[in-house]
Amino acid sequence: MRQGLRPDAVSTTPCLLRTREVTKSFSSDGVTVRAVRGVDLALHSGEFVAIMGPSGSGKSTLLHMLGGLERPTSGEIWLDGTRVDGLSQARWAMLRRRHIGFVFQVFNLLSNMTVADNVELAALMGGATRRQARERRDELLTELGLEAKADAAPARLSGGEQQRVALARALANRPSLLLADEPTGSLDSSGTRAVLRLLTRVHADGQAILLVTHDGRVASAAQRVISLFDGMVADDAPLPAERLVPPGRPAPPPSVPAVLRLRG
Ligand code: ADP
Ligand code: MG
Repeated sequence: MRQGLRPDAVSTTPCLLRTREVTKSFSSDGVTVRAVRGVDLALHSGEFVAIMGPSGSGKSTLLHMLGGLERPTSGEIWLDGTRVDGLSQARWAMLRRRHIGFVFQVFNLLSNMTVADNVELAALMGGATRRQARERRDELLTELGLEAKADAAPARLSGGEQQRVALARALANRPSLLLADEPTGSLDSSGTRAVLRLLTRVHADGQAILLVTHDGRVASAAQRVISLFDGMVADDAPLPAERLVPPGRPAPPPSVPAVLRLRG
């Protein structure tokens, strides 16, 4: 089935990502679970937002819908002014390759490839040349302290290392939007610091980040925290700007608007 992007006739929103009354229900054996129950959220280009909430509150389900991995039961999802909730899997796959980085709660690394090839392939699929892909791979693996693991198979890595490879892979195509589901869930404190440094830089580069976390330190690197409870937004609050800058570090440069041109 071929399905084009429907142009947004009404909205002139400057939002990178917007949802309207998004819901998701799962039914099996006559039982329906309402995992997401009407979420409206807006994320601007270059914004860094954390989603927090108890286990089972619908965080992963929401993120999966925003990355096109689950189709909403009802409601709308708009990406850069284009309605995307009804897109085919193939169109979503294209969007993810080019514009969206996704870090899953389970890492989904390609097990028959080395760590380096997992990251390089994501860059190539995002449109990088071979040379650019190799440079990007080396830069990310170094930044995440994984140089020594470049030639290893993912299965030989610890959970924390696999999690960092998954993040490197998600960032390999320099996505305008990074969606990350608990990207520090398996990390020790030095791994968490490495990931936070990278996310802070990614944000300073103008890339938008929407991440699910249980870790208050990770959330405090964001500009805004959305609290999800029982599949609904219970709170959506900006954090004071000074919390963006870790102590002893210079302030990041102002965000450059991310360029996400779905139609270009
Ligand atoms: P969180 O990430 O906040 O822990 P989830 O989004 O994973 O929450 O799950 C929200 C609710 O939806 C839970 O009750 C969970 O059991 C249910 N759920 C999630 N995915 C499925 C699925 N594929 N089939 C049935 N129920 C699901
Ligand atoms: Mg989850």
